[in-house]
Amino acid sequence: MINFTVGPVQSSDAVRAIGAEQVPYFRTSEFSETMLENERLIKKFAQTTEDSRVVFMTCSGSGGMETAVMNCLSKEDKALVVNGGSFGQRFVELLQLHEIPYTEIKLEPGRALKPEHLAPFENQGYTAFLLQKHETSTGVHYDINLVGDFCKRNNCFLIVDTISTFLCDPFNMAEVGAGVMITGSQKALACAPGIAILALAPSALARIEKNKCCCQYLDLKLALKNMERGQTPWTPAVGILRQINVRLKEIEAMGGAEAEIARCAELAKYFRAKIVEHQLPFEIVSESMSNAVTPLHPTTASANDLFLKIKDEYGMWICPNGGSMKDTVFRVGHIGYLTFKDYDKLIDAFLDLREKGVI
Ligand SMILES: *Cc1c(COP(=O)(O)O)cnc(C)c1O
Repeated sequence: MINFTVGPVQSSDAVRAIGAEQVPYFRTSEFSETMLENERLIKKFAQTTEDSRVVFMTCSGSGGMETAVMNCLSKEDKALVVNGGSFGQRFVELLQLHEIPYTEIKLEPGRALKPEHLAPFENQGYTAFLLQKHETSTGVHYDINLVGDFCKRNNCFLIVDTISTFLCDPFNMAEVGAGVMITGSQKALACAPGIAILALAPSALARIEKNKCCCQYLDLKLALKNMERGQTPWTPAVGILRQINVRLKEIEAMGGAEAEIARCAELAKYFRAKIVEHQLPFEIVSESMSNAVTPLHPTTASANDLFLKIKDEYGMWICPNGGSMKDTVFRVGHIGYLTFKDYDKLIDAFLDLREKGVI
């Protein structure tokens, strides 16, 4: 199978080799060193300030989102949240569940965030802002500088979910002024699922210190205390953390975050050009795309039928959409261990389907 989804994605041989090894005991100086090196490289690739910290939580990306909300926000906050798809909706539901007062900026699927969406909220006493940098469900890449500038002007604490855009599109956490950056192990990091990563600016550390977290497992006070010596309060997904270490060093050796972002951009550009070249009956449905994924509307067939056919008849996974977009949109990812040749095979499959009159 070739995997063109947005996670889990294909891993490099070195990362996969770790998966075959015995899982080592972890209360050791060796594992602590691995963790501290992971922290150092995440800080470097996310371009955090020197005094920022990183924690690794054993949960999927959604657990990272909930960890950020529970530890950094309180009932005294007044939050703004961008909801342009299912991940934005998840933030909205988390704010509801944890009783954080909020206002939703609802965007139609595929729509970019524009200055006019933020204008009504200037100087209205908002204290926090949450958004996906890339709303993966619809493939919309939001203008993070627009949001960062709004937050600076309005003194808003910014929580950015970069789960599907970290290492795919440029992001400078210090420059944007974000308080929290959340990512996960199974998107562009291309490791097994199971680890959420949070980069925390000093503004986040101050909030965590002051807040009471009503969940022991996800309490960042405990995670931060342990991470001072490269450890975690509970048994973490040791194997995945070792995979992350190998992967981060692999990226470093290949030229760092910039090179990885460029590689991802090349794959996206190649695939998008092929769609145009062959005049395939697919429309791009996003006003502002990330390098991570191309969201497509097939004009002559059901998107879900295409997903099933590509899976069952051609041995490849493209990424189906859920809910109301099940039959209208599918996505093709550009993250993980993929090559131009892999895209040639996918394009050949689409051409074959056209030959057969399916699309
Ligand atoms: C994948 C993803 C998540 C959720 O991650 P899980 O690991 O499935 O919990 C959250 N936000 C965005 C933007 C994502 O792409």
